[in-house]
Amino acid sequence: MRKILLPALLFISCFELTAQADVAKLKEKAAAAADKMEAKTIAWRRDFHEYPELGNRETRTAKIIAEHLKKLGLDVQEGVAKTGVVAILKGGKPGPCVALRADIDALPVTERGDLTFASKQKTTYNGQEVGVMHACGHDTHTAMLMSVAEILAGMKSEIKGTVKFIFQPAEEGPPEGEEGGGYLMVKEGVMDNPKVDAIFGLHIWTHIEVGKIHYKSGSLMASSDWFTIKVKGKGSHGSQPWAGIDPIQVSAQIIDGLQAIVSRQSELTKAPVVITVGKIHGGVRNNIIPEECIMDGTIRTLDSDMQKEVHKKIKLTAEKIAEASGATAEVTIDTKTLVTYNTPELVKKMLPTLQTTVGANNLVETEWVTSAEDYSYYGTKAPSFFFFLGGMPKGKDSKTAPPHHTADFYIDESGMKTGIKAFCDLVFDYMNMK
Ligand SMILES: [Zn+2]
Ligand SMILES: [Zn+2]
Repeated sequence: MRKILLPALLFISCFELTAQADVAKLKEKAAAAADKMEAKTIAWRRDFHEYPELGNRETRTAKIIAEHLKKLGLDVQEGVAKTGVVAILKGGKPGPCVALRADIDALPVTERGDLTFASKQKTTYNGQEVGVMHACGHDTHTAMLMSVAEILAGMKSEIKGTVKFIFQPAEEGPPEGEEGGGYLMVKEGVMDNPKVDAIFGLHIWTHIEVGKIHYKSGSLMASSDWFTIKVKGKGSHGSQPWAGIDPIQVSAQIIDGLQAIVSRQSELTKAPVVITVGKIHGGVRNNIIPEECIMDGTIRTLDSDMQKEVHKKIKLTAEKIAEASGATAEVTIDTKTLVTYNTPELVKKMLPTLQTTVGANNLVETEWVTSAEDYSYYGTKAPSFFFFLGGMPKGKDSKTAPPHHTADFYIDESGMKTGIKAFCDLVFDYMNMK
């Protein structure tokens, strides 16, 4: 028995070592290709940056993406979730289906600064004339994924499985009254046919130095809900409040009550909760108590059960506080994104990969983030891993780096190579692990 076992074990471990060496060679080849095509990646990014398009309106961007993917010989689907593009690369060998996702939309922000490729685009947004800017770095995501597609298409015969490239519109939210984004991509079946076994996504981050990757297992980014509370009272003269029911004063109590949900009713050691009232409107004149006051706000949670609990509590708090004063409160809550959840088993399995891509010192475990991502919807359909990629120039202070969504937002383009290599390495390792 022992005599047979030992050679068998030796054979298996030799086989594994050879397989590992083969994968390492693939990664080297992909990395060399990423370096070689850096100028092309940058040129794509600059073009998208100069001509940004808002959510569900990314027709020029989508056309450039689709033409490139078709040239690579991929099976390309256009018009997914309005302006999305999905491409399938069938490898030369059988294996799992790995999806990679990039978002392609820009924001209604007027760009400042003197980049030669700065955006001069303008549009009307919510009735206002505004500039359009890639102020969240989605231009880099698009350019990176186009590069990954080119590299992997060039290595087709060595790929064990299928790669699905997802170029998603409207991550920042569709225009009012329209559906869109990750939610609609999933609804239109992007995770099926072929069924995705694992999905990876990244976000370039202006507060992380280039060459670094930040990750977190489990919840990473918050769910985002938008809420409106309409308080109805009774109008009266400002000098005689007892003759009416003051919806402004009731709203003030409700705002206080909402903060008590965070500070007194939520188990904050489990996960953070944020409730913000960002807009309040009621009344037209100083001595008139109006009939109505309307508040708009956002809720952020990092645990989906807590998200549901907070919804119930906001409703109860607003309604009961209003009732105590003889007013009514009507609460509507609209879920924009879910919690971006990184499947712990997948993260554990793939961390050595990222460690090899960037080096142990450059792979950093991060904290919860209370901003949100509609990438979260893909995670409801397959094991998922989303991480942050460094986009801040080396030596800069992360505290003073202009934040995402602002006019001075800036990305060091040399960070894109790392993202391309990370995606390629994840694909190769995942496919060879199964
Ligand atoms: Zn954004
Ligand atoms: Zn973004």
